[in-house]
Amino acid sequence: MANTATKIDWDCAATKKHIKEAKAVGLTLIGVGSSRHHRTYQFLECGHSQEIALAHVRDERFICNTCEETSLDHPSNVYLLKIKTAELTWLKVGYAKNVVSRVRGYTLVKEASYRTIKTIKFTQGRDARDFENMVHNKYRKKKLLRQRMRKYHLREGYNECYPMRMLDTLMQELEAKEKELKR
Ligand SMILES: [Zn+2]
Repeated sequence: MANTATKIDWDCAATKKHIKEAKAVGLTLIGVGSSRHHRTYQFLECGHSQEIALAHVRDERFICNTCEETSLDHPSNVYLLKIKTAELTWLKVGYAKNVVSRVRGYTLVKEASYRTIKTIKFTQGRDARDFENMVHNKYRKKKLLRQRMRKYHLREGYNECYPMRMLDTLMQELEAKEKELKR
């Protein structure tokens, strides 16, 4: 027997490989998905389950949609970081409930160190997300090239990095927003 869209052969070599791949990225394979390229997984960390493409599990390109959805209703932050290596110093803008664990998710190269320059608090994650998107759209032509930043951000966050000359501009954006939120 082999895997089909509606049935998993738990003893076949392919499934054993899928179980291993899932485990390596914090998931448990629990059942079939809507096609032969998808499966249903449970997140070890939060316990939620969802369907994910096998290829995305392999590349670790997924997030928990349930956690992401709830986080939009909960407090969050927009942060501005200065990240430094011997070769390059750059700025990073992002949003997260927990900045430290978000930075861990970037998987920066070992030699990199970072400092939080500014954090602004939002009562709702969706407002933090919208503000962050607005900033990135406004300055999208100023961003550092993602191909270049992937050398330093080994997993995530390489899309929204800025050169140091953007410091004043980004600070002004964040400070203006902070003032607006306090009103
Ligand atoms: Zn979750």
